[in-house]
Amino acid sequence: MNELNYQLDLLKAMNQKLTEKERMYAKVCESVMDAFLYYSHEKNYIATLGPWKDYFDFEIKDVKDFSRLFDIVDEQYVLPLREVLYLEKTGEDMSSTECQLKERKNWLQFRTKVYYDGSGHPTDKVVSVSDITKFREQNEELTYLAYYDELTGLYNRNYFVRFLGEYVRNASETNNIVSVMIIDMDDFHKINDGLGIVVGDELVQQFAGFLKELCGENVIACHLHTDVFCLAIYAPTENMCAESIYKAIQKRIKEPFKISSGPELRFTVSVGVAEYPEAASTALELINCAEIVVFKSKDMGKNNIQYFNLHARNDFFNAIELENKLKKAVSNQNFVLYYQPQYFAGNRKLRGVEALIRWEDEESHLISPATFIPVAEKNGSIISIGKWVVEESIRQYAAWRKQFGFPFILSINISALQYKRDDFVDSILSVLNKHQVSPSEVELEITESVLIDDFQSVYEKLKVLRDCGIRISLDDFGTGFSSLSYLKKLPIDTLKIDKSFIDTVLTDSATRVITESIINMVKSLGFDSIAEGVENEKQYKYLHSIGCDVIQGYLFNKPLPAEEMASVLSTEG
Ligand code: C2E
Ligand code: MG
Ligand code: MG
Repeated sequence: MNELNYQLDLLKAMNQKLTEKERMYAKVCESVMDAFLYYSHEKNYIATLGPWKDYFDFEIKDVKDFSRLFDIVDEQYVLPLREVLYLEKTGEDMSSTECQLKERKNWLQFRTKVYYDGSGHPTDKVVSVSDITKFREQNEELTYLAYYDELTGLYNRNYFVRFLGEYVRNASETNNIVSVMIIDMDDFHKINDGLGIVVGDELVQQFAGFLKELCGENVIACHLHTDVFCLAIYAPTENMCAESIYKAIQKRIKEPFKISSGPELRFTVSVGVAEYPEAASTALELINCAEIVVFKSKDMGKNNIQYFNLHARNDFFNAIELENKLKKAVSNQNFVLYYQPQYFAGNRKLRGVEALIRWEDEESHLISPATFIPVAEKNGSIISIGKWVVEESIRQYAAWRKQFGFPFILSINISALQYKRDDFVDSILSVLNKHQVSPSEVELEITESVLIDDFQSVYEKLKVLRDCGIRISLDDFGTGFSSLSYLKKLPIDTLKIDKSFIDTVLTDSATRVITESIINMVKSLGFDSIAEGVENEKQYKYLHSIGCDVIQGYLFNKPLPAEEMASVLSTEG
């Protein structure tokens, strides 16, 4: 009896333990996200566990019920799912498959683990089911971002460089060419700044959409940054090469791009092309070479295509060297001013002098302003250089004025960037004041380029300067858009006819007609006319005969260092 009681207690205790364990496993199964399918090979018994009901609205009680699962997944996944569910052997790892549901479109992952007895026969199998939709979406997004540019849908820079590397490798094995084209939208910042980045982005997207249409088996495109795109063409042919693509782009951009918020926008592009194997032998170097010639195409007035060659490379590196040297020269003020006299055509008396800058390099060579002023205008150092010119020329003028006792006109060349500064007018007036020079003895030379960018604000400044008595002269007339009709609107006192007219005025009848009409027009508007670059007596006589007021040129003097200019001044008076 005691033995029976003991066995009973033992059973009770074991039963309680089992109930507790069952409860524990049930709770664990409930708390997990995965649903499970348990299959006992030995007893041919199937049970579902965990949140099965959250996944499926049917139960699986028998192997035959697997077909319910096959019914709800997309057809292409039925076979792999069947394999995973009926699996009798798995290795160390679980076997798994991913299926998409037909209706809900969710992605489910089925993972199977088979257990064996000592002799290798399968005993049990557990299939776990997890919803991996979110994970797949994140993964897809990451994969997309790894290859594509989010804004345009073109390849991104990294992937493009890898792809271009493949092109180059193939080309080296098959003796082929790879063209790399950089396409840079001109003046994009004006659209972005003026109409906002939403409009800017849409324009970039639309243009990218057009470039995508040009892509194909041997052409790939990427969005390098902001408004810059890069295309690579493997084994270019006559019909599909940098030139044909450029033509297609030119044709497209003749038509406006319609922005959804209303505006219709047009733009031009500057394009640089470099080719493997001529320019470089790696993807990145090819892109760099194409970039070098894009700069050149911008320098040449934008809206054109330039091809990389050794000249372009040398020009580029020389320009960088020049720029670095110029930065040093600006901080050390290694500049000198030369002065070129201007004479009245009638009596050959001195009218004034034009201050012309030279850069004295480390070997005391004089570098022409034609070489470094454009660089200084591009990198902004023209502001400090210009300040120095104003200060030094006015100081020198004041000294001569004191020494020789008579007034003449000091002409100073001023760049567009200088006019744009808010403090420009005040800074000129304060230097005049400091050296006690009358504003009426100073003439500022501007070129038409000053007016193109920002006519209204430059116009206002010129008016203020003139109201203070300073003279304004329009330099290099005839080289810009030079419309005679707009001359009337300008607050100027003097017009300088460019040397290119003077060079051919005696030999070319068309130039003669234009020069005469310029001088007549200038007279009727009450300005002075100055002929620049007069080199011989014949030119002088002719210019005098048609009424030109002032002559400047090698015929009288080249630009002179200050001491030599002083000896010229000592003979005047
Ligand atoms: P520019 O203002 O039109 O100056 C006239 C240029 O023609 C000067 O060249 C002068 O030396 C040259 N020239 C004058 N007469 C003759 C001639 O009979 N024959 C020939 N072959 N040339 C003649 P330069 O001094 O080399 O200056 C070139 C340009 O650099 C100037 O053209 C001006 O645009 C710019 N520049 C010079 N100094 C300054 C400056 O201080 N500031 C700014 N912003 N630009 C300057
Ligand atoms: Mg000048
Ligand atoms: Mg000039």
